[in-house]
Formats: sequence, structure tokens, C-alpha cells
Amino acid sequence: MKYYDQHVHTDFSFDSQEKMEHYMRLAGDDFVTTEHLEFHNPDEKDQDSLLDYDAYTREIDRLKSVTGKRIYKGVEVGVSLGQEDKIREYLSNHEFDIKLLSFHQNGQFDFMDDKVKHMDPVEVTDLYYRNMWKEINAFHDGDVLAHFDYGVRQLNLTSGQFATTAGVLLTNIFKLAIRYDLAFEVNTKSMYRYHNIGLYDYAIEIYKQLGGKRYTIGSDAHKVDQFENHFSDAIAFLQAHDIHHVNVFRKNSMTIVPLDDVDERIKY
Ligand SMILES: [Zn+2]
Repeated sequence: MKYYDQHVHTDFSFDSQEKMEHYMRLAGDDFVTTEHLEFHNPDEKDQDSLLDYDAYTREIDRLKSVTGKRIYKGVEVGVSLGQEDKIREYLSNHEFDIKLLSFHQNGQFDFMDDKVKHMDPVEVTDLYYRNMWKEINAFHDGDVLAHFDYGVRQLNLTSGQFATTAGVLLTNIFKLAIRYDLAFEVNTKSMYRYHNIGLYDYAIEIYKQLGGKRYTIGSDAHKVDQFENHFSDAIAFLQAHDIHHVNVFRKNSMTIVPLDDVDERIKY
């Protein structure tokens, strides 16, 4: 079976201008996008960032008939404290094949805001994972724990500094992720654009040793030239950690794809 990017944005997300049809010439027979759902979004003046689900459905149906590809629906749920009921209500009324859970903000700022660069890195790290711990306790209805390192992307921590500050919290977070069947996302944007490979080497071993068995690879593309970026590196990374499969999510089903079977398109 062929693997495909499990984390992709188009202009149905507030922070992407890319047209879905632009991905079509790069996509294989299967394709999914994961559009932002972020209530009380500090990056949008605390407005709710919702996708236009009806227009999204129409565009997917149009591209399916034009291209003959199988195109799935996905959402990246921004989980933040106090927004759980709104998230639940939205998800109970809108169907998706894959739900990524992300922790972007603390109700006041997004952890990718410039101000975070000027804050104390240890304090930011501690704050971010304390928040994530509370939030994942409160809401965990999803398929994938996306970019576990989002809040520390800007901090240039060594894995030693990271382990000292966040190791215990992250271990507890992964225990819950495994209990609720959330996959570990190998986010190639974090690893190769924000140079957090060391943190991924550290964290994936914790997830694996706690009994986690689900893995996805996502580019987090917001533009077509970022689609499936560094996927061959991500496969080599998984193999180096003695992990030999990835997972694909579609409505109510999870598929295991052995890395040996992953399409040449991605591998080389
Ligand atoms: Zn994303």
C-alpha cells in the first residue's frame, strides 16, 4: 500500500494560501488535507478559526471527479483549555477521516509568536508541557498527537536541556496518548526546518518504550513545495529507531503500512 502525507494545509486553513488543486500533480492515488480548527485563536485576534466545511466538501468532490484520486477529509484540532465543549460540538457535527491534535497556544499567545523567542527557554518549556498535560487530560478524541515539540520549536534546546525540563511531563503525556490510541507524528517541518531532530530521537524512544505502536509522517505543508518534504529522511529515522511501519487513518479505520511497502515516490 502506498503511504501519503498525513499533515497538509490548504487555503481552507487560516494560515495557508495554497489551493488544494495545486497539490494534485504531486499527490499519489490517495490524498488528505488537515485544516486548522482553532477556537479563540491568538494569531487571529482571538477569533475562532474554522474551516468552511461545506466549501471544503465541494472542493474535495470536484477534485475527486476531475482527478479520479481518493481524497480524504482531515482536521488539525487546536486544543486549548476551556475550548473543549466547542471542539466536541464542532466534531460531532462534521465528519473527518483523520483528526490531528495540536497544542498551539495557552489562551494568551501562540507558542510560535515572536515574543516566545525573548522569553526564558526553561520557563517556556515548563509552561508548554504543563499546559499540554492539562489539555490532553481534558480532550483526547483524535487519531494523532501532532508535533509534540511545537511549543519549543523556536528555542534551540539540546535534547539534554529538553529532557531535564520536560522529560517527566512528556512521559506522562505519552502514557495518555498511548491509552487513547494517539499516534506519534514524525513532523518533518519540526525536524528539518526547526532542527529538532535531537528532540525527536529522544521522544520517539519514550513513546516506543511505553508501548506506543502508531506512527505517522507529516510535512505540515502550508505550500505545495513543502508537501512530503524529507519523507525519505523520516523513513530512515524510523528505521534507525527499529520502527518498521507507519499508519494511515481513514474514517473509523487505521491501516498499518510496512515501511518496506512504502511507495518509491516517497522513498527516493
Ligand atoms: Zn499543521
